Amino acid sequence: KMNINSSDIIKKLMSRGIMVTINQQIDYDNAVQIAEEYGFLVDKKEEDDENINILDEEDDEKDNEEELLPRPPVVTVMGHVDHGKTSLLDAIRKTKVSQHEAGGITQHIGASVVEINNKKIIFLDTPGHEAFTAMRARGASVTDIAILVVAADDGVMPQTIEAINHAKAANVPIIVAINKIDKPNANPDRVKQELTEHGLVPEDWGGDTICVNVSAHLKTGIDTLLEMVLLVAEMQELKANPNRNAKGVIIEAQLDKTKGPVATVLVQKGTLKTGDVIIAGSAFGKVRAMFDDKGKKIKKATPSTPVEVLGLSDVPEAGDVLVALQDEKKARLIVEKRKEKYREYKIKQKQKISLDELFNQIKEGNIKELNIILKADLQGSVEAIQQSIEQLSNDEVRIKVIHGAVGAITETDVMFAAASNAIIIGFNVRPDSKAKSLAEKEKVDIRLYRIIYDAIDDIKAAMKGMLEPEF
Ligand code: GDP
Repeated sequence: KMNINSSDIIKKLMSRGIMVTINQQIDYDNAVQIAEEYGFLVDKKEEDDENINILDEEDDEKDNEEELLPRPPVVTVMGHVDHGKTSLLDAIRKTKVSQHEAGGITQHIGASVVEINNKKIIFLDTPGHEAFTAMRARGASVTDIAILVVAADDGVMPQTIEAINHAKAANVPIIVAINKIDKPNANPDRVKQELTEHGLVPEDWGGDTICVNVSAHLKTGIDTLLEMVLLVAEMQELKANPNRNAKGVIIEAQLDKTKGPVATVLVQKGTLKTGDVIIAGSAFGKVRAMFDDKGKKIKKATPSTPVEVLGLSDVPEAGDVLVALQDEKKARLIVEKRKEKYREYKIKQKQKISLDELFNQIKEGNIKELNIILKADLQGSVEAIQQSIEQLSNDEVRIKVIHGAVGAITETDVMFAAASNAIIIGFNVRPDSKAKSLAEKEKVDIRLYRIIYDAIDDIKAAMKGMLEPEF
């Protein structure tokens, strides 16, 4: 409004020891003083900001069925360590990113777009159920399909089972890639047998789990695998309305020395455009520029497109929701208010179920299902406890062990509990120190027992609201 070059203002601020970029807001007092230095008189206008809801991330107009158009699927690769997740992702990218696009070089922005039969598939670059569940714990569900990699020479291993349970709890369909079939000791049938024991019955054995033999090394089976992804995506009828304000999720963000805050957004609804006013977490800005996964500058990003966005004031967190708003003033107000209240809001959002709270939550109708993650010292105990506690289900609440395994309670277990609103029961095992501090941060209830009946008694008592408080 003063018609003064922004760089002059930035210089003035710097001389006051305030380091800001053009995308940032400055406080009122400094703004007044600087305006006065240029001979302007500032008149403060009170905003009618009572109606602004800081949680109003959506600004959500409901989408009509007829406005929805098909969108590409978003895929995460999971599986046991060393079974070939990274190699498979590399093989897919190398064979399926068309060579004429920007020299065929993929930029690392956190997700890649590949093409098969003229259809797109988006792969998240960080493989593993840990990353998948960490996003879910932050409230963001971006994955439509999980590819479970199982090495044909090694079979189903503990993290394979973890991955299966993490995907199942999130209701994400699983396609199995039986990898390393080039190895002389590869035994795909053994893998299928073991998968069956964990509830994934292969199609050719009469079940509904799609299994594809692949070799990341020889790059065989890749096309079939991707065609199966498209098939499953088609059955899911993934759709979004491209003609509305954009809404998406931050999948990566960092501070770049020259570019400032850089965030990769996976657009979920609407179309994100250069110049859009955006908020993400407690960051605010205007889309200054966007780049796709090939590093190409683009002006528009439609649903399921991952884009690197420049122009935010701060670095948002992975998992934060990004929305584009029409009204810049409103966006500013939301962010202003969030700055004060966001911590409170985040903490509140984190309140998880605890055994002490179970009865009240059931009575208030807040929960119908108690999810439990069970860790024990012996496989026999896992099975015995799982059976006994699932039998405690009644008309009001169903008790469900979403993951049971042998071993100490890990960070991954805690993240899984946070993402699935579960409590963790440890039988003759303890959380490691990282898991313990994460549980405190994520407000996950961990209960440790040495006697099976104590665990059962506690859950019974909690269901009736008669649990002795823990000190
Ligand atoms: P990740 O830990 O699941 O990401 O596994 P990696 O992709 O790092 O692979 C683990 C090891 O298995 C590496 O030494 C790879 O070279 C090897 N590997 C991966 N895929 C194949 C394959 O298809 N055939 C063979 N023979 N080895 C493979």
